[in-house]
Amino acid sequence: MSAHLAYVGIGTNAGDRAENVSRALCGLRGVGTLLARSSTYRTAPWGRLDQAEFFNAVVSLETELSPHDLLDALHAIERRLGRTAGERWGPRIIDLDLLLYDDLTIVDERLQVPHERLAERAFVLVPLAELDHRFAAMRDALPPSELAGVTRVEREGGTVMSSELSSAVSGRVRALADFLSSGDAVRVRIEHGGDEIELARRRQHVDRPRRANDRAVAGAATLRFDTIKADLVGIFNLSRPAPSEGETFDGDRELAYIEALGIRTPVHSMGAGRLVSISATDGAPVEYGQPLFSIART
Ligand code: ADP
Ligand code: MG
Repeated sequence: MSAHLAYVGIGTNAGDRAENVSRALCGLRGVGTLLARSSTYRTAPWGRLDQAEFFNAVVSLETELSPHDLLDALHAIERRLGRTAGERWGPRIIDLDLLLYDDLTIVDERLQVPHERLAERAFVLVPLAELDHRFAAMRDALPPSELAGVTRVEREGGTVMSSELSSAVSGRVRALADFLSSGDAVRVRIEHGGDEIELARRRQHVDRPRRANDRAVAGAATLRFDTIKADLVGIFNLSRPAPSEGETFDGDRELAYIEALGIRTPVHSMGAGRLVSISATDGAPVEYGQPLFSIART
């Protein structure tokens, strides 16, 4: 038996987003031991801008599952929470991404670890740096405009007590919480004058700090993606056989061509890598500088 350390990103921008985050956490408790969770952050949408803000969070998880089995388990949770196919760039009930798995680098048709968004997205790096401060340098390297789009959700879920009630009980709750966190007890109760308060610690939550090793952090920082952009205006056409997302190539590959005034100008992969995403539409016009392909270099 070996327990691996995985970081999982949670995102949702449809339905009751706070509730979706809690349900995802519940699901994740079924695939391992939750070690820590970040605050929930509110994030301006990207990709398509005409949709609701995302709620994002990151958790660290100890699991016995292999990376691919963990990916399957994440997909199963997504389906259970009601995610349907075809909402990739649109509103989504839940998105669970495997960000890091020990210090492994994986690039195949189904899985890329570290996750492609880890190095460049504030909604991943802000919560991740909250869990492990060594990611703060990567976070701080992001453009300020990107960081400005991510703000902490102040008070999510839970029951907010009225102020009179809370001032009457808060001292006792705090004493109980201190007692719980300092000892081995998992459940404590105070009874006093016919009134009682009970607090329980989630059994699965362990306070033992466990963090990514230095290699994993360094690996995430050197992850490199290239965006291939259109260098002329014209009609974008995928080359045949058409490249597909997830495809890897050992050397240079012609991915597409742009046709203008009857002349076809090829678009190359500019060397080996894995095609992460195709951002332009086959047969549609492209503008100068428009992103066409994102390629992970390995
Ligand atoms: P998004 O890339 O926006 O999260 P999806 O959740 O629909 O979109 O995922 C698309 C595909 O990305 C999945 O089918 C999955 O196999 C693949 N994938 C590659 N690497 C990862 C990873 N580290 N975590 C989650 N999915 C991944
Ligand atoms: Mg995903």
